[in-house]
Amino acid sequence: MRNLAYLAIATVLLALGGCATPATRHPLIAADLGAPSSTERMAASLSRPGVVGFERVRFAQWTGGRGGFIDRDDPRTAAIPEGFETSVIYAYVIDHPTRGRYLIDAGVSRDLQARLNPLMRKGLADMSVRVDRGLAEWLAGRGAPRAVFLTHLHFDHVGGVLDLDPAIPIYLGPGDARETHAMNGLLGYPIDAILNGRAPLREWSFAPDPDGRFAGVLDVFGDGSVWALHTPGHSPGSTAYLINTVDGPKLVVGDAVHTRLGWDEAMPQPVPDRAKPDAEQSANRLRRFAADHPTIEVFLGHQTRAGQVDR
Ligand SMILES: [Zn+2]
Repeated sequence: MRNLAYLAIATVLLALGGCATPATRHPLIAADLGAPSSTERMAASLSRPGVVGFERVRFAQWTGGRGGFIDRDDPRTAAIPEGFETSVIYAYVIDHPTRGRYLIDAGVSRDLQARLNPLMRKGLADMSVRVDRGLAEWLAGRGAPRAVFLTHLHFDHVGGVLDLDPAIPIYLGPGDARETHAMNGLLGYPIDAILNGRAPLREWSFAPDPDGRFAGVLDVFGDGSVWALHTPGHSPGSTAYLINTVDGPKLVVGDAVHTRLGWDEAMPQPVPDRAKPDAEQSANRLRRFAADHPTIEVFLGHQTRAGQVDR
């Protein structure tokens, strides 16, 4: 969503100019979870019975021009007709038998809009965002999570943390917090508006994957049940998660691949030129790993794959 909101106000920005500022000035510490591992060990874990409960939860949606999702400057997208894509905001609930409940991404909060500056609010209004539920509504009567594992620090993946106790830690990939953009300041630092008063962010400490299949692989709890994969490109710290659930392995790819066009037809997504090689490599790596292990069910950043239940 961030790209779309930015597009909507690009004209204003061009008129005002702007200097590059970080996504957030929030304190940042190293994660206290996650043992460096390898793709080979992660693959070996797939053959053991999964122990983690898993549920995808749908929070909101918007519809945007296809050019916000595929790179119209890349000739490979020329055959894809103009049109619109529906984009859904999801979060994932994972229940580990001994470690407890965790969220992957945070959905949205109904308290968020009031904290945003007028420019950011206008950007969202232009995108006709429809909120089906906030995280507080979903959590009512359910147990709170012990932590949130982010796929990345973009606005549409983190907003729901406003509905969580400020002491609940948030984990994220390296580089996302300090990624600079000309618009962060002009938009009133929307990520800071969400994180204000919370515990420091905890950055995953990835080490190079000895197998060279991903930029980094972490065994999150050290028991082979949940894995974090460094998949930079959409953002520097983009992180996918593989969960060995009671219902088979699930791969939550985040916005490394956010649409069916991106996964099924390998269409490149619009990212800054400097991030294009990483984005393409990360998407290819995820597709290849899933193809090598067909029992894996893949969850895209903002769309439902053919045959998947969209809750
Ligand atoms: Zn994103």
